[in-house]
Amino acid sequence: MLPLLRSSRRSAYHALMTNALDRIAPIVIVGGGLVGSSLALALDRAGIECLLVEAAAPRPAGAQAETRNLALARATVNGLRTIGLWSFLAASAQPITRIRVSRAGAFGSVQLDAAEAGVDALGWTVPARVLGDVLEKALKAASHVHRMPEARLVGMGADPAGYALSLETSAGSRDVRAGLLVGADGTNSSVRAMLGIQAHVHDYRQSLIVGEVRCARQLGGGASERFTAAGPVALLPLPEFRAGLVLGVATEHVGQVMALDDRDFLAYAQARLGWQAGRLVASGARQAWPIRRVLSSALTAPRAVLVGNAAQTVHPVAAQGFNLGLRDALTLAELLVRSNDLGAAALLDAYASRRADDRVGVLRMTHALATLACGSGFSGLQSLALMAMDGLPLVRRRLLRHGMGWRGMPPRAVLEALP
Ligand SMILES: Cc1cc2nc3c(=O)[nH]c(=O)nc-3n(C[C@H](O)[C@H](O)[C@H](O)COP(=O)(O)OP(=O)(O)OC[C@H]3O[C@@H](n4cnc5c(N)ncnc54)[C@H](O)[C@@H]3O)c2cc1C
Repeated sequence: MLPLLRSSRRSAYHALMTNALDRIAPIVIVGGGLVGSSLALALDRAGIECLLVEAAAPRPAGAQAETRNLALARATVNGLRTIGLWSFLAASAQPITRIRVSRAGAFGSVQLDAAEAGVDALGWTVPARVLGDVLEKALKAASHVHRMPEARLVGMGADPAGYALSLETSAGSRDVRAGLLVGADGTNSSVRAMLGIQAHVHDYRQSLIVGEVRCARQLGGGASERFTAAGPVALLPLPEFRAGLVLGVATEHVGQVMALDDRDFLAYAQARLGWQAGRLVASGARQAWPIRRVLSSALTAPRAVLVGNAAQTVHPVAAQGFNLGLRDALTLAELLVRSNDLGAAALLDAYASRRADDRVGVLRMTHALATLACGSGFSGLQSLALMAMDGLPLVRRRLLRHGMGWRGMPPRAVLEALP
């Protein structure tokens, strides 16, 4: 059994972590993306040591490559506040006070309002690049997170006490032992594959083109999502006249749309989006992301656990992936803080059971919306369903609650006293 390391043993442990070639770590997180980094920082705040292994080199601050804007649910912002990150993000974030979901050429729509829920915002839009920079800065300052950048997991062996991990690093091969192995290594998780956990894959045959646009008028807090025959289109409000554009395009047409010059791209986006949010006047850099749903058949194995996209990669149509992944990370951190044996079967069972309702609920909802958004037919019945959702107070309350990120049994770090 690998006991929890607390401060009295920290300096000896730190020396071991930094000097030895054959390293021993109670918790090894493989994957330092948005979810793995957030988990490491949540553990750091609780004084729990971990080793964060990441295949990529740290991204220089302000690097422009990432063009996504993330819609963060209210619960997520609470979670980021709890782990000390929100004060660094708030200046770049735009509150979302209204969300409108509609369908091109069909009647019926749903509009959700923060005022109706008695809150100042349903969520916030934050550029993914800014969140990445803030995480990187916080990791540099963290005293209990030991990092191995440019280190890729390439093999592992299991024994009753944990795992022997083989890493390929820029300085050669390294071996590391883990008492608890956390797979936070994304959609194509090596941890999941090496643990022998199956992945169920569904290809939506669609890509999302994402980037920033400038609008003729400010969106205020208004976010919109429109289902069109060619896929979903969303506009996320950003400060001033800026907005994050998300444009679904069938895989076979992505190359063509990406090759359009800015003027033609804006005209194409405008035709898909309609005029509800006004005129689009300028477009920035864009990227295309192929979209697949990848579901892990289990969330845990002996002394191992999956979080974030490694556990489930969902269609971004409802902006749920990071929101869900952060709830994975914060639930795991909460259970680890209370445990004396970090890899205990009871802890892993509690994690799987605490995450079940939230996971299933988000998976069902995103898949239903994605199927609707990818399909060409939108029947009168579906229009009526949208109208019914808009008109029924109980359904609206549920939509608001779920939209703000409260499902199942959320981690304590995201809770607040709602009016
Ligand atoms: C177009 C688009 C828009 C989106 N919009 C939203 C949104 O508005 N709101 C929202 O909540 N979510 C959104 N998402 C989803 C969100 O981006 C993801 O759910 C989230 O980034 C997943 O984070 P992760 O850390 O689990 O995985 P990743 O970000 O994939 O990180 C995995 C990390 O593991 C590392 N790694 C992989 N293999 C190894 C290995 N063998 N050894 C070591 N390291 C390894 C990788 O280098 C990577 O850094 C969107 C997604 C897309 C594609």
